[in-house]
Amino acid sequence: MKATKEKDHIKCSFCGRDKQDTAVLIAGINGHICDRCIAQAYQIVNEEFASKQDKNIHQSLNLLKPIEIKTFLDEYVIGQDQAKKVLSVAVYNHFKRLVQKKSDNDDIEVEKSNIILVGRTGTGKTLLARTIAKMLNVPFCIADATVLTESGYVGEDVESILSRLLQAADYDQAAAEKGIVFIDEVDKIARKGDNASITRDVSGEGVQQGLLKLLEGSIVNVPPQGGRKHPEQKMVAIDTKNILFVCGGAFDGIEKIIAKRMKKQTIGYASHNGREEIDEDNLLQYISAQDIKQFGLIPELIGRLPVVTHLDPLDADALKRILTEPKNALVKQYKKLFKMDDIELEIEEGVLDFIVEKAIEFSLGARGLRSICEAILIDAMFELPSTDDKHMVVTREYAEEKLTNSTISKLKAA
Ligand code: ADP
Repeated sequence: MKATKEKDHIKCSFCGRDKQDTAVLIAGINGHICDRCIAQAYQIVNEEFASKQDKNIHQSLNLLKPIEIKTFLDEYVIGQDQAKKVLSVAVYNHFKRLVQKKSDNDDIEVEKSNIILVGRTGTGKTLLARTIAKMLNVPFCIADATVLTESGYVGEDVESILSRLLQAADYDQAAAEKGIVFIDEVDKIARKGDNASITRDVSGEGVQQGLLKLLEGSIVNVPPQGGRKHPEQKMVAIDTKNILFVCGGAFDGIEKIIAKRMKKQTIGYASHNGREEIDEDNLLQYISAQDIKQFGLIPELIGRLPVVTHLDPLDADALKRILTEPKNALVKQYKKLFKMDDIELEIEEGVLDFIVEKAIEFSLGARGLRSICEAILIDAMFELPSTDDKHMVVTREYAEEKLTNSTISKLKAA
């Protein structure tokens, strides 16, 4: 009898409402909470998080001026000074954009500075975008433009990019909405050929239109798990207004377009001022939005990617520095791996030159450095942990022998 009476008098321990006045009353160890108090608490928590995030952005803005951003990039990325400078300013302005107040009654809205990085494969485009995201501590994802198709076709919808960002943000929608997306191989969705009416590549242009929607800053319904495999999943509405998009591509053949334009310009220019030197070996440094348009990206998309910059090809000197200088340089990583077995790894200078020579010979750029190192060190990594050897010296002869016996040496023939 007593038990039923007590049950009838259950109240919310927060607002004191009787059980019958609530929709749901959840029991805890020493009390109860009603649906209204849960909703209110949820709102308080959300507001608290939002104000913390704003504070973080303000702090970052105070701490990270463009020069500091570049210094940070210098620790991880070798060379590419121009791209670093342009990126640092774009990111700094992006932050300023995030803190601009709606209450600023001046009708001036700072627009987003999405970026196009043009440079050969393996020169550090992804690395730059990834390093920026690491520094800013914001969600980051990489999407490959080549797998994207117009919706309705086989392949991934453009929205899948945002699913990935949401996953990178641990499904924290607010964090995802301030993230950075790197879209690789954006050159592969270029319209093929100049004569758009006959050779129009519908799928390429369709994907460009799809991307435009994301880049413009709109609310996009995103399947949180991605793909079309889960048709029953609830969509999440993501606002792309504050997401920074960095697009990268090799734009093979764009040098010809640049050269043609430069020649025309210098001829006109020469008549006034005498001839200006053009660095024919690195034409990418003169890239402009006009060249990208001619390459086949639609003007609307280029308009949404107002910051265009280039990456320099990596020469032998840069490749050698990449092996040893960055904070997580390959040589440092291998030394650490050996150290975990108490083995001192020593790599002679000549070996570094040899690795660089091979990377250039195989035309693998910086991307090849790792596979070459792996081929050279695999036997040592396999055998040494089971021996008493505590010192490993890699000489050029040793490296040459190991590489000749490895499968990677066949790459040259391929
Ligand atoms: P891509 O330009 O094709 O996006 P990545 O950024 O993916 O090239 O580079 C591939 C790998 O090569 C990186 O993970 C990094 O280890 C190395 N790398 C490339 N360029 C640089 C660079 N400028 N400085 C340091 N490492 C680099």
